[in-house]
Amino acid sequence: MPPSEDAGGGPMGGAGAPDTTREIARDTARLAALYQELILDHYRRPRNKGTLEGADAHVAAKNPLCGDEIDLQLRFDRGRVAEAKFAGRGCSISQSSASMMTELVRGKAAAEVHALARRFAEMLGGSEEAAADERLGELRALSGVSKFPMRVKCALLPWKALEEGLRVPRR
Ligand code: ZN
Repeated sequence: MPPSEDAGGGPMGGAGAPDTTREIARDTARLAALYQELILDHYRRPRNKGTLEGADAHVAAKNPLCGDEIDLQLRFDRGRVAEAKFAGRGCSISQSSASMMTELVRGKAAAEVHALARRFAEMLGGSEEAAADERLGELRALSGVSKFPMRVKCALLPWKALEEGLRVPRR
């Protein structure tokens, strides 16, 4: 006797699916607003802005396309970034990136800093996996910049200065 197959009860017409799409859109909008706020907060109240007394490395970087300037100063301690400060001016992307970066790299070893710089560049290249990487901390707020190739250089400017600063022989 052939097994009776219950092929009945055809598709009911996927009720409930449209709501999910709307929820995702709402969450995405909320995250974008949160990220925007974070960028502006760092732009208006930059962390670690000023002059670092007794800096071991001092790097000036410019992005002529946008007019951004970053003057980064680093102090090292036993192979780690003990402190990072910056001076500069320019767009909110470059200045907030510098502010967030100086917060994130404090106390980190050079190898960790290079790994973060790579990850950050991947995120700006459009990697969603990198954009979700918690090691990037607040810098994930800049993930939307990947959609604007002209602004990627703004976000990368302080990191370029940082990697150059790490090449300075350390005590
Ligand atoms: Zn810029």
